[in-house]
Amino acid sequence: MISQTLAIIKPDAVENKFIGKIITLIEFHGFAISKMRMLRLKKEEAQKFYSIHRGKPFFDPLVDFMISGDIVAICLESENAVDKWREVIGATDPEMAKEGTIRKIFASSKQCNAVHGSDSNENAKIELDFFFN
Ligand code: ADP
Ligand code: MG
Repeated sequence: MISQTLAIIKPDAVENKFIGKIITLIEFHGFAISKMRMLRLKKEEAQKFYSIHRGKPFFDPLVDFMISGDIVAICLESENAVDKWREVIGATDPEMAKEGTIRKIFASSKQCNAVHGSDSNENAKIELDFFFN
């Protein structure tokens, strides 16, 4: 069954001019792009999006990073989209990410790790609503 997930091209990847290369990989891996928008988050929006991480040591730097420049939010569709996209992006820490994954190729640190991917179907729905409703 076809499902959806949220991808975000984060400010580091936009700044480094990796939008095109990342979208090429999205299509190479067989996802359909059903919605896409470029935007810059406000501080309150970034805090809300990452509210599950509130209180963690990396929360404030993460929010500052996510509002530091434009991002691209993308609705991806495929079979098993959530798990498939997490496979394609690789581990949070690019040093731990497998060869060929987007974070291995494009990320520069655990914080500036190029892309976001929803971690469950439930969160994918919440996160897609956040950007597209
Ligand atoms: P993921 O994006 O792989 O689902 P998390 O949900 O755990 O990872 O964290 C959200 C984001 O917060 C990460 O993508 C990364 O940008 C940042 N982050 C997570 N852990 C750390 C950390 N230990 N140090 C710095 N930034 C972090
Ligand atoms: Mg996460």
